[in-house]
Amino acid sequence: MSAPDKAKAFARKKVTAAQRIITLENKFARERKARMEAEMLAERGLRDLFLQRTNVELLNRIADAANESNDPDALLAFAIREICQANGWPVANVLLRAGTANDPRLEACGISFAQSPDQAFGFMELSRRLIAWPCVTSPGKLLINPVPYWSHDIQDMRGFSRAREAASLNLRSSIAVPVMIGHELVAALEFFLFETNQPKPETLQLLSQIGTQIGRVFKRKRNHQQLMQTALSDGLTGLPNRTAFTNRLNEIYAYRRERGEPGPSLVFIDLDGFKLVNDTLGHQAGDMLLLELTNRLTRLIEEFRVAESAMLEVPDEIVLARMGGDEFTILVDGPDRVALANEIAEAIHKCLLPTYILDNNEITAAASIGVAHDDGHYSAPEELLRDADVAMYEAKSKGHSRTIIFDQNMRTTALERLKMEADLRQAIEGNEFFLQYQPIIALPSKNLVGFEALVRWRRASGEIIQPNSFIPVAEQSGLITVIGHWVLREACRAAGRVRKHMPSDSLPLYVSVNVAASQFLQPNFLDQVRAILMETCVDPRWVSIEATESAAIMSPAKTAFALNQLREWGMRVCLDDFGTGYSSLSHLSTMPVDAIKIDQSFIRHQTKKNADWNIVAAVMQLAKAMHLNVIAEGIESAYQSTYLAKLGCGFGQGYHFFRPMDEADAMALILQKASAQQKKSGHFT
Ligand code: C2E
Ligand code: MG
Ligand code: MG
Repeated sequence: MSAPDKAKAFARKKVTAAQRIITLENKFARERKARMEAEMLAERGLRDLFLQRTNVELLNRIADAANESNDPDALLAFAIREICQANGWPVANVLLRAGTANDPRLEACGISFAQSPDQAFGFMELSRRLIAWPCVTSPGKLLINPVPYWSHDIQDMRGFSRAREAASLNLRSSIAVPVMIGHELVAALEFFLFETNQPKPETLQLLSQIGTQIGRVFKRKRNHQQLMQTALSDGLTGLPNRTAFTNRLNEIYAYRRERGEPGPSLVFIDLDGFKLVNDTLGHQAGDMLLLELTNRLTRLIEEFRVAESAMLEVPDEIVLARMGGDEFTILVDGPDRVALANEIAEAIHKCLLPTYILDNNEITAAASIGVAHDDGHYSAPEELLRDADVAMYEAKSKGHSRTIIFDQNMRTTALERLKMEADLRQAIEGNEFFLQYQPIIALPSKNLVGFEALVRWRRASGEIIQPNSFIPVAEQSGLITVIGHWVLREACRAAGRVRKHMPSDSLPLYVSVNVAASQFLQPNFLDQVRAILMETCVDPRWVSIEATESAAIMSPAKTAFALNQLREWGMRVCLDDFGTGYSSLSHLSTMPVDAIKIDQSFIRHQTKKNADWNIVAAVMQLAKAMHLNVIAEGIESAYQSTYLAKLGCGFGQGYHFFRPMDEADAMALILQKASAQQKKSGHFT
């Protein structure tokens, strides 16, 4: 090869080598790039794998904690710390859903986290006081659409109130996460980040899942609260029940005791004759009455609360509860409690007064109220409750619509009453009752017309107990129905015995039997009467029934029906203790009776020197207008007898004529009167 050719060939080779070098270099570069890309890919994959694992672990930790927790607050605190630490996020804050459906809010609840609490103090302080309404920025945005939000450039974000403090910490973005129960937002988590990069969708998805996990604990707590609510409130009225009431009483007691202060005051309310409403009008009507009563009491208590808060900086606490049945309690705690409890008790009587319409029946309700104040001598709250109850019983035994404030002597009375109730049961078993008969006299002829049968109790010891001492206990305990049945049967038997010994039809006498309201309104009362009449073969015209107004007050329609039935059978019916009830006149027009008995309190105290017959005169006029006979009770003097006769009163009974007597004496009296009357009319010669 020639030199030039060689040179050319050499030059070509050189070019090729250079080219190859370039090619190789390119190849290397490509390979390096590919390797680097592969390495980067591998690294990123590893990192993702790592992150994925961290996230899974984070979710597991929070889910585990959620499984074991009943306390959303503790779980929230745990969750935000774990999330911040797992992601390297510096600050987090928690808000709870507040407000109403129409005015929803998110309110910071004081649960927050900061990697450097000292540095983040200012920002945290603002965050812990934050209230957010629905708006376009987080966290208020969650109220509009509860999904996780990422917000960037928060330092320049419009409407972000903590921008300046965020800038001082170099916080650049935030993530808001909803905590949900189903579709309901219950809380919001806020995280603040240094990064400006948009978080991966997986991160937001993970946070959303954490929100759901925390929501489970909120749900659990809510269920628990609902259960507690059901356990602590009265099913019918929605008022706090006995458990809730005693819980609160115990709390107040513990608080007062710690400070060496006396405990609260207690008002114990029991409806008068509620059992009658239930028995006669049915349980539904009873429930309606309790609901109406609850409304009235609630309104009344609210008025007192408003008045209290207008007067006092720290108003007394007033808690109304239903203890069960027809028993309600009011707890009053605070400096003004004694006066306030007494005032409330008085106001209750007035607030119960307007009539109630139940199933077209107009009824009146009244209550017996006991009040007990702690003056520091009670060692346990149950003692206060017990004494208010004792005072209530005392009020009940004194009659309708009363308030009694507890004093220590009542405890003895209450124990005696309990003992008497037990003794009464034994007395029924042991047949310890007997009847006396008080003659009823025609005025002014002084002829004997009948007898009132009056029950007495002879204890095994021989002691005689008068009805005023045991009838109220018998009424309260329900034993009156058994005793009353015995009285009616015994009186009818006695009437039969008298008839056997008497000259036939020489004296048209009747026996008058007292029937308590609860006995009268028993569903089988009429059946009982008919059975007794048939058993004793007594002519119904020889028997009179003395009913009191309380029957008519509780159930006018039922009372009228029963009275009519008795009269149809030929019995006499009379309204006893007239003038002592609180609505005598209004009920008189609806009670089909033959006679009224003017209560002895209007007669007994009248003396020639000091007389006031106005009421009796008015009753006489009324009776005349209604064609009713009048019997005056408690005639103790000739003056009273004469004056009553002058006023037109047809009949009377009282110590002036005769005291109640045994059957044998009554028999003797009948025979004596019969013979005297026969002599007078010339039958005996
Ligand atoms: P009541 O039905 O008004 O009976 C009249 C009461 O007045 C009787 O009292 C009688 O002894 C008394 N009394 C009669 N005349 C005079 C008088 O001139 N002066 C005075 N100070 N008192 C006189 P008693 O027997 O103690 O009965 C009291 C109440 O007990 C009766 O009042 C009645 O409400 C009740 N009661 C008596 N027996 C029965 C009964 O069998 N069933 C029922 N449910 N209640 C009865
Ligand atoms: Mg009577
Ligand atoms: Mg009477």
